[in-house]
Amino acid sequence: CGCFGIYNVKDAASLSYFGLHALQHRGQEACGIAASDNKNITCYKGKGLISEVFTNKIIEELPGKHAVGHVRYSTAQQNQIENVQPIMVRAHQGSFALVNNGQIVNAEEIKVELENQGSIFQGTSDSEIFLHLIQREEGTMVYKIMNACAKLEGAFAVIIMTKDCMYAVRDKNGLRPLSIAKLEDGYCVSSESCAYDIVNAKFVRDVEPGEVIRIASDGIQSFKYTEKTQKKMCSMEYIYFARPDSVIEGVNVHNARKLSGKLLARKDKVKADIVIGVPDSSLSAAIGYAEESRLPYEIGLIKNRYVGRTFIQPTQKQRERGVRMKLSAISAIVKGKRIVMIDDSIVRGTTMKRIVQLLKDAGAKAVHVRIASPEFKSPCFYGVDTSTYDELISSRLNVKELKEYIGADSLKFLTIDEVKEANGPDLCVACFSGKYPTNLFSLGNIIKK
Ligand code: 5GP
Ligand code: SF4
Ligand code: MG
Repeated sequence: CGCFGIYNVKDAASLSYFGLHALQHRGQEACGIAASDNKNITCYKGKGLISEVFTNKIIEELPGKHAVGHVRYSTAQQNQIENVQPIMVRAHQGSFALVNNGQIVNAEEIKVELENQGSIFQGTSDSEIFLHLIQREEGTMVYKIMNACAKLEGAFAVIIMTKDCMYAVRDKNGLRPLSIAKLEDGYCVSSESCAYDIVNAKFVRDVEPGEVIRIASDGIQSFKYTEKTQKKMCSMEYIYFARPDSVIEGVNVHNARKLSGKLLARKDKVKADIVIGVPDSSLSAAIGYAEESRLPYEIGLIKNRYVGRTFIQPTQKQRERGVRMKLSAISAIVKGKRIVMIDDSIVRGTTMKRIVQLLKDAGAKAVHVRIASPEFKSPCFYGVDTSTYDELISSRLNVKELKEYIGADSLKFLTIDEVKEANGPDLCVACFSGKYPTNLFSLGNIIKK
C-alpha cells in the first residue's frame, strides 16, 4: 500500500491526489482521501485507481489544508469496501482519519481481546485495530497513539490526521518506509519520496523505527514509543516494490537495483550475446548487469502500458491473464541470440515460465535467467501478498528443478549477502532466510507445517 499526507498547505486534497498518483504502483485495488479544514474531516474512497475514483468535483468537495490518502493493495485481508482507507473515527473526544501500510502480526490476538471487551469491527483490516486501541486510551492524542503502537507487533507505517494535527508513525523495525518532507508553510508525509517531487516538496528525513512524529501548527515534535528498535527495512521494497526514483533510508532504488545487477554479473561466466530485463522493475538491474559484463543491453521485451502490475492482482487466474496481456518479445532483437534475461524476483513462477516461452517462441537460441534477489522461500507476514508456502515456487523446487520448470538454459540468484551489499545492511530478508525479525504469534503456525 501507499500512504500520503499533506499538512497545512492550500488545496491539500488536490495535492494528495497527485501524491497518491505517484504512489499508484504500491496498490491499485482501491484508494481514498480524507481532508480537514480544522473543523470537519471529510472523506471519500472507492475501488479502483486514483484516476478512476476521483474527479475534480469530488476533490473540490474535500476542503481544507490537511489531508491523508491511501492506495490499497490488499494482502491478508479481503478487498471489501470496509477495508478501504482512510478509515475514520467519529467520536465525541475528536474525530480522526488513519492510513496504514503493513500488516500487524498479533492482529488476531488483539482483536479477540478487544471484541471480548465490547469492540465491534466493521471490516477485516488491521488498521481498524489501530483505531480501537487508540480510542481506548486516555490522555493526549500522541500519548494514545504511543500506547497503541506499543501493543502492536509487525509492520506498520501509519499517518493519522485529526482535525488540526498529523502524526507519522513507524513500527519498531521500520519494516515499511515512511518519510517526511517540507512543503511551503507545511509538511508532507509519504511512503516513498517519489511523491514529493510531483508536489514540489523537499525531503526532510525518514521517520525512525519506533518513532511518532507529531506535526502541528507549532512545528514538528518527535516521540519514541519504545527504545527496543532495530532497523529491518523490507528488502523487497528495493528489489521490487518501490519506484526507481525513490530514496529509501538514504539509498536510491535505481542505484541499488543497478548494483544488484552488477553483483549478478560479477560471479557469472555465461557466454551470451545480449542482456535484457523484464519491464519495468528489473530494467535497472539489467543495465547494471550489462555494464559490468560489457555485454550489450537490449530491449527484448515490450510491456503494454495499459495493464496493471500482475503480481498485485488478487487471484492467480487474474495474474496469469495479466502476464499474457502484458508482455511481448521483440523478435528482431532476440532471434538467434543467446540472452541473459534479468528479472527482479521469482515468487510464484507464473511470470518467468511465460517469459522464457515468449523468448523461445520469438527465436531466442538460449535464455539464461538471472534473478536480482535470492530464492523466495518463506511467506511474508509484513504486508506482501505471499502468505502461504504452497504459493512460493522456491519452497517446493530447488534451483535445478526450477530451471527445468521455467524452461531456462540456466538459472542463478543473488545471495542474501549480496542483497545487503546492494541495498544496505539493516534489512529484513525473512522471505529468503526464513528468519523473521518479530515474533509471529498465531501466524507462526503457518511456518510450522
Ligand atoms: P511470479 O509470477 O513469480 O509470482 O511473480 C514474479 C513477478 O512479480 C516479478 O517479475 C516481480 O516483478 C513481481 N513481484 C515479485 N515480487 C513481488 C512482490 O513481493 N510483490 C509484488 N507486488 N510483486 C512482486
Ligand atoms: Fe519484505 Fe520479505 Fe521481510 Fe516481507 S519477509 S518484509 S517481503 S523482506
Ligand atoms: Mg516483474
